Amino acid sequence: MKITLPKKVAFIIEQLEQNGFPAYAVGGCVRDSLLGQTPADWDITTSANPQEIKGVFPRTVDTGIAHGTVTVLLEGESFEVTTYRIDGQYEDGRHPKAVVFVDQLAEDLRRRDFTINAMAYHMHHGLVDLFGGRKDLTEGIIRCVGNPKERFTEDALRMMRAVRFSAQLGFVIEPETKAAISHCVEQLSKISKERISTELVKLLISPHPEEMQTLYETGISKLLFPWFDVMMETEQRNNRYHCYTVGGHSLAAVKHISAKPHLRLTMLLHDVGKPNCRTVDNEGRDHFRGHPEISAVMAKEILRGLKMDNDTVDTVSTLVLWHDDEPPLTPAAVRRAIHRIGERHFPDLFLVKRADNAGKSDYGQKEKLAYIENYERLYEEIIAKNQCLNLKDLAVSGADLIAMGMKPGKEIGETLEYLLEQVLEHPEENEKERLLGMLP
Ligand code: ATP
Ligand code: MG
Repeated sequence: MKITLPKKVAFIIEQLEQNGFPAYAVGGCVRDSLLGQTPADWDITTSANPQEIKGVFPRTVDTGIAHGTVTVLLEGESFEVTTYRIDGQYEDGRHPKAVVFVDQLAEDLRRRDFTINAMAYHMHHGLVDLFGGRKDLTEGIIRCVGNPKERFTEDALRMMRAVRFSAQLGFVIEPETKAAISHCVEQLSKISKERISTELVKLLISPHPEEMQTLYETGISKLLFPWFDVMMETEQRNNRYHCYTVGGHSLAAVKHISAKPHLRLTMLLHDVGKPNCRTVDNEGRDHFRGHPEISAVMAKEILRGLKMDNDTVDTVSTLVLWHDDEPPLTPAAVRRAIHRIGERHFPDLFLVKRADNAGKSDYGQKEKLAYIENYERLYEEIIAKNQCLNLKDLAVSGADLIAMGMKPGKEIGETLEYLLEQVLEHPEENEKERLLGMLP
C-alpha cells in the first residue's frame, strides 16, 4: 500500500534522518490516507527529543514540550513533530542502534489507542502495521491496541474516543473492546468536562451521531449524560405525531440537521425537558405542555456543566426555547417573532423546525412543512425589505427623546419599546417625525 506523503512531510522526515533521527508519519494521517481521505493534519513521530527537533528546524513553536511535541513551521504550514512515546527503557545504550530504533517505534505505536490509529508510514520503508490496523480498517472495526481494560484504565478518555471514531468512520466497536467500556465506565468520572465535551461534539457532528445510542448501551451516558438516559427511556405513547421515544426522536432530529455543533446540540437537547412535563389525557395520550421552556433551562444547565463556551450556551438554549413557537403567519406577527427571538437566530430556527418535523411520524408532517415554508417566505420578504426589527434600526433613539426633554431613565426605554411595537405593526411609520408625533 503506497501513501503519497506531502512534500513537506517527506522533507521533515528527511531532515530528521540526515541528523541521525529516524522519523515516520503516524496516527490519524496514516489512517485517513489508507481510507482514501485527505488528512486534516500530518503528525510525525521521531527518536529526536524536543531540543533535538528544534535544532534541526529553524522555525518551531513549543506546543507541548512536556508531551514531547514541537510544531515545525514550513512556509505557513505547521506540522506536529513528537518524540516517540516511550518510557525510556531503551535509552540505556546497550542495544545496537538500528534495533533500538525499530523497538522505539514499536513502543510508540503500542501506546496508541486503537489499531487503526497505531500505524506509521515512511516513504522508503512503507507501512509499519504491527497490530493489524489495516485489517481492522478494511473490516470497519475499532479495537484497542493490547488489553482493552488496561488501556481504558490508563486513560479513560479512550472510551469516549472509541465511540467517537465509530461515529466518524461508521465502524463497529470490537466486542471485547465494547465490553471493556461497560466494565471501566466509572473511570470516566476522572476526565475533565472540557475533554468530554470535545469528544461529544465530535461525535454529534460526525456522519453517525446516532452512535449516541452506544453511549447509552455501554453506560457512558448514565454516568456523564444522565438526562440522555431519561430521554431514551421516555415513551411518547399514543401520540400521533411521534413514532419514537423522546431520545429516539431527538437522535432522528439530530441526523436531519447540518453537522454544525450548535445545531446538532440544539436537536439533541430540544426536548430534554419533556420527561419532566409529561401528562396523560383521558384517552391515554401523552402530552408535554411547556416543554420548550423547561428544555431551554435544562439545556443551559447541561451545556454550562459541560463547560461549553457562552455563545454556544446562549444560542442553543434560545433555539431550544423557540423551537416549537408558531406565530400566526402575518407579516406583523412574523416581525414580532423575529424581534422576540432575535434576528441572529434566523434562519437557523427554520433548520431546527424542519429537523424536528423530519424526526416525527408521517402524521401531520405535510401541514407542518407547509407552515414552515410559509413562515420562512414571510421572513425572507421582511429581510429583503430591510424592515426595522429592533431598537437599533428604529428612526428614533434615546438621544432624540432626551433632546425633547425626557429625563434619562426607565421611561426612555419604555417609550422606545412602545414605538418599536408600532413600527413592527406598521413598518412605514419608521420615520422620526411620525414617531415623535405619536408621543403625548
Ligand atoms: P482527529 O485529529 O481527527 O481527531 P486523530 O487520530 O488524529 O484524529 P488525535 O487526537 O489528533 O486523533 O491524535 C493523534 C494520534 O495520537 C491518534 O491517531 C492516536 O494514535 C494517538 N492518540 C491520541 N489520543 C490518544 C489517547 N488518548 N491514547 C492513546 N493514543 C492517543
Ligand atoms: Mg489529529
